[in-house]
Amino acid sequence: MVFQNSVAPAAFVLICCAIMAAGCSGEQPVAAPADVVYRCGETGEFVSAPPQPAPAINPHTGRATLQRALYCPRCKRWHVVPPPDVLNGPPAGYPCPRHNTAMQEQGPLPQ
Ligand SMILES: [Zn+2]
Repeated sequence: MVFQNSVAPAAFVLICCAIMAAGCSGEQPVAAPADVVYRCGETGEFVSAPPQPAPAINPHTGRATLQRALYCPRCKRWHVVPPPDVLNGPPAGYPCPRHNTAMQEQGPLPQ
Protein backbone atom coordinates (compact mmCIF):
# COMPACT_ATOMS: atom_id res chain seq x y z
CA MET A 1 0.00 0.00 0.00
CA VAL A 2 2.22 2.78 -1.28
CA PHE A 3 -0.60 5.38 -1.07
CA GLN A 4 -1.09 5.05 2.72
CA ASN A 5 2.62 5.14 3.43
CA SER A 6 3.10 8.44 1.55
CA VAL A 7 0.09 10.26 3.06
CA ALA A 8 0.87 9.60 6.71
CA PRO A 9 4.25 11.40 6.79
CA ALA A 10 2.80 14.37 4.89
CA ALA A 11 -0.02 14.73 7.42
CA PHE A 12 2.50 14.46 10.25
CA VAL A 13 4.60 17.29 8.77
CA LEU A 14 1.50 19.48 8.35
CA ILE A 15 0.50 18.97 12.01
CA CYS A 16 4.04 19.77 13.16
CA CYS A 17 4.02 23.02 11.13
CA ALA A 18 0.68 24.02 12.65
CA ILE A 19 1.97 23.39 16.19
CA MET A 20 5.18 25.32 15.52
CA ALA A 21 3.29 28.25 14.02
CA ALA A 22 0.92 28.38 16.99
CA GLY A 23 3.84 28.11 19.38
CA CYS A 24 5.69 30.99 17.73
CA SER A 25 2.69 33.33 17.71
CA GLY A 26 2.06 32.58 21.39
CA GLU A 27 5.55 33.62 22.48
CA GLN A 28 5.52 37.34 21.74
CA PRO A 29 7.99 39.04 24.14
CA VAL A 30 6.27 41.45 26.50
CA ALA A 31 7.78 44.90 26.03
CA ALA A 32 9.08 46.22 29.35
CA PRO A 33 8.67 49.97 29.92
CA ALA A 34 11.84 51.85 29.05
CA ASP A 35 13.97 53.03 31.94
CA VAL A 36 13.89 56.72 32.75
CA VAL A 37 16.56 58.91 34.31
CA TYR A 38 16.46 60.12 37.90
CA ARG A 39 18.75 62.35 39.95
CA CYS A 40 19.47 61.24 43.50
CA GLY A 41 19.00 64.09 45.98
CA GLU A 42 21.36 62.35 48.41
CA THR A 43 24.35 61.46 46.25
CA GLY A 44 23.73 63.82 43.32
CA GLU A 45 24.28 60.98 40.85
CA PHE A 46 22.06 60.31 37.85
CA VAL A 47 20.66 56.77 37.64
CA SER A 48 18.51 54.94 35.11
CA ALA A 49 15.57 53.05 36.64
CA PRO A 50 12.10 51.76 35.65
CA PRO A 51 9.33 54.41 35.70
CA GLN A 52 7.80 54.75 39.18
CA PRO A 53 6.12 57.41 41.34
CA ALA A 54 8.46 60.12 42.68
CA PRO A 55 10.39 60.08 44.88
CA ALA A 56 11.68 56.90 43.28
CA ILE A 57 13.81 54.26 44.97
CA ASN A 58 17.55 54.58 44.34
CA PRO A 59 18.62 51.02 43.38
CA HIS A 60 22.08 51.71 44.84
CA THR A 61 20.97 52.89 48.30
CA GLY A 62 17.43 51.47 48.56
CA ARG A 63 16.10 54.88 49.70
CA ALA A 64 13.41 57.00 48.02
CA THR A 65 15.59 59.92 47.01
CA LEU A 66 15.22 60.03 43.22
CA GLN A 67 13.60 62.85 41.27
CA ARG A 68 12.82 62.68 37.56
CA ALA A 69 15.32 64.33 35.24
CA LEU A 70 15.03 65.25 31.57
CA TYR A 71 17.81 65.86 29.06
CA CYS A 72 18.23 69.12 27.18
CA PRO A 73 20.21 68.44 23.98
CA ARG A 74 21.15 72.15 23.76
CA CYS A 75 22.50 72.33 27.34
CA LYS A 76 23.91 68.79 26.93
CA ARG A 77 22.93 68.16 30.54
CA TRP A 78 20.11 66.77 32.68
CA HIS A 79 17.63 68.97 34.57
CA VAL A 80 15.54 67.79 37.52
CA VAL A 81 11.85 68.31 36.78
CA PRO A 82 8.95 68.66 39.25
CA PRO A 83 7.02 65.47 40.09
CA PRO A 84 3.81 64.87 38.08
CA ASP A 85 1.56 65.99 40.97
CA VAL A 86 3.22 69.42 40.87
CA LEU A 87 3.67 69.61 37.13
CA ASN A 88 0.32 69.40 35.37
CA GLY A 89 0.94 66.69 32.80
CA PRO A 90 3.55 64.11 31.89
CA PRO A 91 7.19 65.05 32.62
CA ALA A 92 8.20 64.45 28.99
CA GLY A 93 8.16 67.72 27.12
CA TYR A 94 8.86 69.84 30.22
CA PRO A 95 10.76 72.89 28.92
CA CYS A 96 14.42 73.51 29.67
CA PRO A 97 14.64 76.31 32.28
CA ARG A 98 17.38 77.98 30.20
CA HIS A 99 16.26 77.45 26.60
CA ASN A 100 12.50 77.03 27.15
CA THR A 101 12.53 74.18 24.63
CA ALA A 102 11.04 70.73 25.26
CA MET A 103 13.46 68.32 26.91
CA GLN A 104 13.65 64.60 26.21
CA GLU A 105 13.56 61.45 28.33
CA GLN A 106 16.57 59.79 26.68
CA GLY A 107 20.15 61.02 26.47
CA PRO A 108 23.72 60.19 27.43
CA LEU A 109 24.07 59.61 31.18
CA PRO A 110 26.88 61.57 32.88
CA GLN A 111 29.68 59.29 34.02
ZN1 LIG B 1 18.78 73.82 27.75
